Amino acid sequence: MSIWDIFKRLQPFVRPYRSLILFALLLTLLGALTAQVNPIVLRYTVDTIQSMLDRGWGVAQSTLLLSQISLILFAKEVINTFIVFGQRYYGEKIRIQVSSELSQTAVDRILTYGLSFYSENTNQKGKLQTRIDRGVESLTKLIQNFFIDILPLSANAIVALVIMFSANVYVGSIALSILPVYFWVSYKQAERLQGVRRKLKTQRENKSSGLINLIESVLVIKSFVREKYEGKRQYQLQLDLMESQLRTRRTNFLFDGIKSFIEQIGVVLIIILTAYLVLDQQMSIGAIMFHILLFNNVSAPIRQLHRIYDEMNDALTYSEGFFDILDDAGAVETGGSYVPSRIRGDIEMRDVSFTYPNGTKALHNISINIRAGQTVALVGLSGAGKSTLINLLVRFYPPDSGQILLDDMPLDRYDLPELRDDLGMVLQKNHIFKGSIAENIRYGKMDATYDEVVEAARQAYLHEQIMELPDQYEADAQMLSGGQQQRIAIARLFLKNPSVIFLDEPTASLDAIATEQIKNSLDAIKQGRTVIIISHSLSQIIDSDCIYVMKKGRVVEHGTHDELYEMNGTYREIFNASARSLNLDKIARTLDKE
Ligand code: ADP
Repeated sequence: MSIWDIFKRLQPFVRPYRSLILFALLLTLLGALTAQVNPIVLRYTVDTIQSMLDRGWGVAQSTLLLSQISLILFAKEVINTFIVFGQRYYGEKIRIQVSSELSQTAVDRILTYGLSFYSENTNQKGKLQTRIDRGVESLTKLIQNFFIDILPLSANAIVALVIMFSANVYVGSIALSILPVYFWVSYKQAERLQGVRRKLKTQRENKSSGLINLIESVLVIKSFVREKYEGKRQYQLQLDLMESQLRTRRTNFLFDGIKSFIEQIGVVLIIILTAYLVLDQQMSIGAIMFHILLFNNVSAPIRQLHRIYDEMNDALTYSEGFFDILDDAGAVETGGSYVPSRIRGDIEMRDVSFTYPNGTKALHNISINIRAGQTVALVGLSGAGKSTLINLLVRFYPPDSGQILLDDMPLDRYDLPELRDDLGMVLQKNHIFKGSIAENIRYGKMDATYDEVVEAARQAYLHEQIMELPDQYEADAQMLSGGQQQRIAIARLFLKNPSVIFLDEPTASLDAIATEQIKNSLDAIKQGRTVIIISHSLSQIIDSDCIYVMKKGRVVEHGTHDELYEMNGTYREIFNASARSLNLDKIARTLDKE
């Protein structure tokens, strides 16, 4: 992306503030004019004092001059204060408003993206956040720079140059001839830094995601006593980052020195030339001060040039990643326009195959048929593709080939929000948001009344337990036990009231007592709905109307428990292994003794 591309992309974000920008530009022009007052006043002062000295006048005759100068400088400073305030404030106002709009646009945009987007390596949570934050930060800095630095300073420089040229062509030429050298050095500096800056970006991201991973896996690290090993890994990241940071500083200091040197050469040349012109009687002595101060107005912005370059490079580096996020059109979830009045829950998959964006082939030629109101179990070893199958039915991902029909209508024809409104999921671990129990249950239906929330909790067999808590429905939901959190997820579904429910190992993370307790909640939510359940719990499997057995992304058997058991295939293998793991003989003997 070039800097022009960036400005073009920023246009829609900046456009609403056109009048503000115009005002800021006007202030800039005024600022550029007032910045030249000092050199002019100083030349006038020096020349007037010189002529007073020539005439043999003393302090007594200078009152008028001194009060004139004081008044002018005072008035200029007062005006300048307002101008600088206006420039800064309005520049900042534009920056803050554009910044919040950029962030919000990114948030709104990624919310429209499907799960493929989130499962990409570059979009893992830490990385995505860094990309958005850095993008917004560098773009807004660019805008801020433009209004607070680039515009006022270059306006100053241009006006000062014009005055220098009109005073004397040679003096103007010297000031002007320094500029390209300066630009060239700054350009070289920026070029030198560019590679390092990109590297710095990746290293910063690695370091912050490394720290997040570290915190997430602290339990394992501690239990294996791998603190030193992990510490060393972090240290290596730190060392790499440090080396890049030092290289950046070294380059900057070196080039800053060169630029300072060039600037001083300019000052010396101007002093020599003006002194010659004064001695040659072509100019008054005031011209020396006049030219030096004007040259200062030319070189001041150039002194900032490397920083502006630097920040422009930042914008160039980070904005690409940011706009890539906004432009990922392929990631937008697309649905059809079909709005069902109510989904019955007949599900059919015809020859469906699916590959994850990272290339994992997860499903091969799956065909299943589920009638409305049935409870169907998906059985298979871990990694067989059971959760993937559900992901496809919820349309988190579109299949590579084959067809998925819901109530005899292709799934991709459904309006997505309407479709998902009628599907419900209970996962192994359900996300409980920070907040009260009532808020968490209400996530199932945002406008539910308090009574509806209580009724849902009651249906999920959670109400009595909530009433025993000191804060009852206002208690912190994240403090609840695993079983209670699962029941919150079920209560949410009672409020949502979908026709089809997917249960992905809903009891896998619960202990036996909690599993038994939650059984009535699950039985209640299953009533009158199509249910697809992934489970390793024999009781839940045996209870189902039909069982699909999956192996390495394929359906290998299907039928009722009895039919499958008779088949003497994969199902029987899994069933027997599960039964053996329960140590049924011993259990039976223990129960017999009672
Ligand atoms: P199951 O639910 O039967 O345990 P999954 O459907 O979770 O199996 O996984 C099936 C295959 O797809 C596995 O090989 C798994 O590694 C892979 N897989 C699951 N989720 C993703 C994902 N988001 N991206 C890439 N591969 C995935």
